[in-house]
Amino acid sequence: MNNFKLNRGWTEEDKLHMLHGGVPLDDFAKNGTPLILDSACGIRVKDIHGREYIDALGGAICTSCGYSRKELAEAAKEQMMKLSYAESWSGITSTAAIDYAHALAEFTPQGLDRFFFVNSGAEANETAYKIARYYWATKGFKEKNKIISRNLGYHGLNMVSMWATGIPRFQGKLGAPDPDIVNIAECYCYRCPFGKDYPGCNLECADALAQAIEKQGKDRVAAFVAEPIYGVSGTICPPPEYFPKIKEVCDKYEVLLILDEVMTGFGRTGKNFACEHWNVKPDMLCMSKGMISSALPIAGVAFTEDIFQGMLCSESFPHLHTCGAHPVSCAVAKRNLEIMIEENLVENSAVMGRYMLDELTKLQEYPFIGQVQGMGLFLGFEMVQDQKTREPFKNKEEKKLTKAILEEGVIVRPGGSRIQIGPPLIVTRDDVNDILAAIKKAVANFKA
Ligand code: PLP
Repeated sequence: MNNFKLNRGWTEEDKLHMLHGGVPLDDFAKNGTPLILDSACGIRVKDIHGREYIDALGGAICTSCGYSRKELAEAAKEQMMKLSYAESWSGITSTAAIDYAHALAEFTPQGLDRFFFVNSGAEANETAYKIARYYWATKGFKEKNKIISRNLGYHGLNMVSMWATGIPRFQGKLGAPDPDIVNIAECYCYRCPFGKDYPGCNLECADALAQAIEKQGKDRVAAFVAEPIYGVSGTICPPPEYFPKIKEVCDKYEVLLILDEVMTGFGRTGKNFACEHWNVKPDMLCMSKGMISSALPIAGVAFTEDIFQGMLCSESFPHLHTCGAHPVSCAVAKRNLEIMIEENLVENSAVMGRYMLDELTKLQEYPFIGQVQGMGLFLGFEMVQDQKTREPFKNKEEKKLTKAILEEGVIVRPGGSRIQIGPPLIVTRDDVNDILAAIKKAVANFKA
């Protein structure tokens, strides 16, 4: 018999025992966590007071096949009863991992059919950076180890990925920047860092990569990493010519292109992977989230056979995680992929996303709504003081509107000066209409 009875209630026990990231600590210490979830089903979550919300953010834009899916639970149970753990190094692996890799290769862009599985998006990023360095070093370029990333990009918050993440608020008090990570200007047409106006520009944001490589020296740069569409900084889409030009620059200077599709992958943008919108094939692609609807931790890097061949040598690749390629996660991820295909979720994302984007665009009748952007069910709208000057609000009006939408029963999130929406890919038209009704009501009543 144990005696683990909760004496003080959820909020007090949370305040007493937990530390959470991403919230002001003094506020947490005083008031605890505002929303404590207890259960969920499909696109709806329920808090400890029994109040139900539509989760129009799908967790952290990750519960693509919906919450608490029976099929995923059954796949987990079956695999746990069969083989609950296996290494994936030192000469051991599992049938579950091989089975998943085989299925996944059918879904990833052609030529990206070799995988390294880890547990989180940050680990996937750091794995890709290590593969890039190992690849170049094995080919004799031992100095070719810098990673270039972009301002506003988000690649996780581990000790190296936090510097690839080009968002200063995630880096405070945490020591000196990693000297082998270089951040370049963002691609953000609505607030162009070069003061240009697309389509009248020369894609100076893509030229910035060429300039950075020249400055560092091409024999010092291993890879460039970018999200196809910015996520954490607020669904910001590139112009269609951006990534094709980036790919040209990478090819010209022999720099590997890593696309971080942790958020945009697995149908989120209406294609299997966002890079397919522009026919750009990266050398490596990072994935997680929609890969398993975040029902269990798993992430991975897909990469080309060329890279694998370039890494071949008599030494081992010095990289492993105890729970990497975990057989239970692999079995559940495979079932998740089957559901996506059986239920046509990539197509649903494209169709529902287009409808939602059209409806959200109508919000621009309000003077504080700026650009509305998105692809598939990966959407966002900007809040501005003035539509003409595009001046952002200074006092966190995005948080205020997010709270008002929550009061209407729908969860969304601020990202930069945008409100971000990314519901599970299983949403029906009725679900979308419910989400839109809550957003429209909150916007209509909003006073900046
Ligand atoms: N990369 C991208 C594009 C992400 O959106 C995220 C998380 O939101 C990560 C990496 C980090 O993933 P994780 O939180 O699993 O480390």
